[in-house]
Amino acid sequence: MNKKLRGEGMEASRVSDISTSVIRRMFEIAENARKKGIDVVNLSIGEPDFNTDPLIIERAKKAMEDGYTHYTSNLGIEELRNEIAERYLKMNIEISSNNVMITAGASEALINASLAFIERGSKVLIPSPSFLAYFMYVKLCEAKSVNIKVHDNNFIIDVDLLNEVLTKDVSVIFINYPNNPTGAVMDQKELRAIAEIAEDNDVIIISDEIYDMIYYDKKPGTLAGYENVVVVNGFSKSLAMTGWRIGYAVADEELIEKMLRIHQVNGVCAPAFAQKAVADVMAEGIDREITKSMVREFRKRRDFTYKKLKDMGFKVFKPEGAFYFFPEYRGDSVEFVESLVSGKGVILTPGFPFGEGNERYFRISYATSLQNLKKAMERIEEFLEET
Ligand code: PMP
Repeated sequence: MNKKLRGEGMEASRVSDISTSVIRRMFEIAENARKKGIDVVNLSIGEPDFNTDPLIIERAKKAMEDGYTHYTSNLGIEELRNEIAERYLKMNIEISSNNVMITAGASEALINASLAFIERGSKVLIPSPSFLAYFMYVKLCEAKSVNIKVHDNNFIIDVDLLNEVLTKDVSVIFINYPNNPTGAVMDQKELRAIAEIAEDNDVIIISDEIYDMIYYDKKPGTLAGYENVVVVNGFSKSLAMTGWRIGYAVADEELIEKMLRIHQVNGVCAPAFAQKAVADVMAEGIDREITKSMVREFRKRRDFTYKKLKDMGFKVFKPEGAFYFFPEYRGDSVEFVESLVSGKGVILTPGFPFGEGNERYFRISYATSLQNLKKAMERIEEFLEET
């Protein structure tokens, strides 16, 4: 291998300050704890702990046997695009399959949308805290992130504040409700006010709605069908299919065409048999039942963990959707998270990668068994008593 390629400083500037060190460091510390004989409880995972339902696997096997092993059209198979359009039509949102593009996971839709709409050197508004990938997309597009802190507004966006920071050089606004890492939800009325901003200004909203089926009380709204909005969604979370790589974007046909320019050379198409399997379970109406039974479990875990965290004295928002808590620690959360892994074998995620103002916060994923959550809560309690 060419030695120079291995050397530091050979990367393009757009990736130079993107780092994988936080995750690596956490796993190194966890590995050391394991070596010391501590059994590690991992509350840092961003995917359902459930396996994909056997009914979906059956349909995928059949699809493979039926020849769904080739490229599909770039936009995705018609049956799946129709099922997705149908899903929104049932919510009285007038879209057709022409407004739907299937991608290799929601991540691919997010980066396609970013590359298609974030102008180099422009500003991109991102509520903080937010899914850390958005900040990376902005770097890859050589633009500038502007954090909108939402800590004092129950982690949802204040429309007046958004209007204030919306200058002419803003190309894109990212939003994500139900939110990773806070579990906050914005309903239809609250979202509509944000959509009006996109309609009245030359700005694109990328609305990441990947957790829209995982909610407990307040019903999440959707920005599908609004002008200047790209909705990103997928089946990784709602059907526990992270490894299958099926996501999608919903937008005006003109916006879809712009994203297709990236998608045709990026994801190209999502796995054919996986597209067909999802289309089949949606057509049969099985998908909703699968999601509902997971949500019932998540709710139990949320209620259990919320009570424990409150009893321990943490200031924490009660999640209305997704499967995360974002509590506030009394000091720097990196130190807390690192000592908790090395001393007690509990892996959490520190808050700082989720944007500005999150240095004291940490994320707990409750996409793990109640038994693991009980163990983790006991150990956190012990840790707090000892320090
Ligand atoms: N958006 C959010 C908010 C997420 O939490 C995740 C997964 N962690 C994704 C997108 C990516 O989803 P996918 O696996 O479908 O690419």
